[in-house]
Amino acid sequence: MAKGLDKHMERKSIVTSFGKDLARRSKSTCELCGTKNVKLSVYEVPPVEEEPVFENCLFLCDDCIKILNNIKKSQENELRFLGDSMWSEVPLVKATSIYVLEQIKDRYHWANEMLENAYLDEETLEILGRIK
Ligand SMILES: [Zn+2]
Repeated sequence: MAKGLDKHMERKSIVTSFGKDLARRSKSTCELCGTKNVKLSVYEVPPVEEEPVFENCLFLCDDCIKILNNIKKSQENELRFLGDSMWSEVPLVKATSIYVLEQIKDRYHWANEMLENAYLDEETLEILGRIK
C-alpha cells in the first residue's frame, strides 16, 4: 500500500517536472485552444504509460482537459479551435486534435470537412494509432 502511494507520488512529481519544458513548448498558451493567461496543467494523453513520457503530454487549460475527459459531452462551440490546432507543429497536439475531430465528425458536418482537409504525416498517424 505504502509502496503504491510512493509510486504514485513519484509519478506525479515526474509529470509535474515536465511543466517547465511544456511551458516553453507551448509559450504558456493552451496547446489546443490557444488561450493565454490561464492556468495550464500537464495532461497525459491516454493510454498512460507506467513511466510518464514527455512526448505523451500536453499543456492544457481546464476547459480543454474537461473536453478531452468527456468528448461526448462537449458543446459544438467549444470545439471550433480544432480547426487551428489540427495544423499544430507539435505532433501530439495535431494527433489529439484529429482524434477529437474523428469522435465528433458524425455530429458536426464541419468536423468532417476539416478531417477531409487534414494532412496526416507518418508521425501523426503513428500517434493516432496509439491513442485509439
Ligand atoms: Zn484550452
